[in-house]
Amino acid sequence: MSGDKLTGGCLCGALRYEIDGTGESASHCHCGMCRKASGAAFVTWLGVAHDKFRFTAGKPHSYRSSDSASRLFCGACGSQIQFDYHGAHDHTHITAGTLDEPGRVTPERHIWVQDRVPWADYKDGLVEFSGED
Ligand SMILES: [Zn+2]
Ligand SMILES: [Zn+2]
Repeated sequence: MSGDKLTGGCLCGALRYEIDGTGESASHCHCGMCRKASGAAFVTWLGVAHDKFRFTAGKPHSYRSSDSASRLFCGACGSQIQFDYHGAHDHTHITAGTLDEPGRVTPERHIWVQDRVPWADYKDGLVEFSGED
């Protein structure tokens, strides 16, 4: 794997993507919407500039989860790949868990911690925010 690119994809392999570079900051999101959308206690998001992210195989399904954003996922296996704000945002967010090498990303913060489930409190020393930060 080259050092200046990240690649990833969904569980079944129908969706594949690549990122130029290694993205911006990564956050563990504890909000209730991420929990429902993923089925996991929290979701780790990697912020990426729009022009550095692209799907290289497949076409994601989209669910408008709020007035301001949509969640993109594989229609075959259900893996959630992308959280994308509507309108003019220069960044998008990718699920770090769908990276081929998730260890290349270093999460920096917990967000929406007021929604955190009690058994997902890892005391890892990272800074915590109510809301996004
Ligand atoms: Zn899939
Ligand atoms: Zn969230």
